[in-house]
Amino acid sequence: MADTAKYLMAIYQRLYDAFGPRRWWPAETAFEVMVGAVLTQNVAWRNVERAIASLKGTGLMDPMSLYQADQVHIERLIVPTRYYKTKARKLKALVTLVVERYGGDLNRMFSRPLGELRQELLGVYGIGPETADAILLYAGNLPIFVVDAYTRRIFHRLGVFPPDISYGAMQEYFQVHLPRDVALYNEYHALIDGLGHRLCLATRPRCGECPLVDECRYPGEEAVVNGSG
Ligand code: SF4
Repeated sequence: MADTAKYLMAIYQRLYDAFGPRRWWPAETAFEVMVGAVLTQNVAWRNVERAIASLKGTGLMDPMSLYQADQVHIERLIVPTRYYKTKARKLKALVTLVVERYGGDLNRMFSRPLGELRQELLGVYGIGPETADAILLYAGNLPIFVVDAYTRRIFHRLGVFPPDISYGAMQEYFQVHLPRDVALYNEYHALIDGLGHRLCLATRPRCGECPLVDECRYPGEEAVVNGSG
């Protein structure tokens, strides 16, 4: 277990040295993080930024305003995030929890025991484990490790995970071996996403620029082809 902890911290350090602090989550308030976590599902962040600017520009970036807003109005504002009808419904469901259960008070919400709040979030329409955990970590500053498709791809290529590992098993791996440290969890997930987004692409990963290339077990030809290019 000590070796795995050392390995994970070495990976973290290499990513940090290569990319620097990611300063996640890019948002002005915890509520904006929550909205962004829903809107970013299956879409690039630049689309989310446009929708967030529209919500802010129309005064809807606070729990009560969004709760009271007409759903069709919200849909129009978040069109750039695709699936905007579904996402407007998800936002409504989330903000209904925040307002009706916690009076719109996020401090009250995030002071609940982590496990109980996670279960509650998972019961909200459209909130799966990744969105719930992003909300808990990045909006609530609670110690839970967020994993995603990038995590699976990268740590599979590194030879750590089987390709079909579950969300829960990935999360447990990090949480068992790393200290329960919010700042570390925040930065580590952001760095993994930076690598997945920039270099460890689904096809033709840019291994020649990767800070983890000498740790990686990805099939040789692809690494060599990309490493030489
Ligand atoms: S060396 Fe290539 S395949 Fe391996 S983690 Fe880096 S980018 Fe991904």
